[in-house]
Amino acid sequence: MAITLPDLPFKKNALAPHISEQTLDFHYGKHHNAYVTNINKLIEGTDLAGKDLESIIKSTAGNASKAGIFNNAAQVWNHTFYWNCIKPGGGGAPSGAIAGKIDSDLGGYDKFAEQFKNAGITQFGSGWAWLVSNKGKLEITKTLNADTPLAHGLKPLLTMDVWEHAYYLDYQNRRPDYLSAFIENLINWDFVNSQLA
Ligand code: MN
Repeated sequence: MAITLPDLPFKKNALAPHISEQTLDFHYGKHHNAYVTNINKLIEGTDLAGKDLESIIKSTAGNASKAGIFNNAAQVWNHTFYWNCIKPGGGGAPSGAIAGKIDSDLGGYDKFAEQFKNAGITQFGSGWAWLVSNKGKLEITKTLNADTPLAHGLKPLLTMDVWEHAYYLDYQNRRPDYLSAFIENLINWDFVNSQLA
């Protein structure tokens, strides 16, 4: 059972003008696809072949001799999760259970938005900003390169890719503008609620 590239949960032109079809052609069609190709090559013929992504990530995390496998597996998982975290007409304040959790654990939506954006701005170089559940309590965190909260015992609820390939075609060096567009116009809170449940 090979690791596969899942279909995008929206049309490639559906996120414009916040994320363009051209960005998705590269980000999904080239970058995400390459991580899928790489992980399948790396695990072929090993005891990890046939394992699911989460098992591969957890069994190789922190093992320097398995860094290539971890990085490609985590990038496949992170990207699939990222596509699910966004939708056309999303963003803004949430409804459902996550709204109450953000109020009680993070001080409300405005503070969430400020802290989540700040996590993306302050991630030096490539990486990811996250909303996670740490034993039931919401936290905002960030990871470097391919690293993922799955490798640290945390439950991911929402992520924002801050690698330059996620925004450079649309925003060039203006990472904060991409982060604002993501938070205000793209977050799929229905998916976040489904992960919280
Ligand atoms: Mn990416």
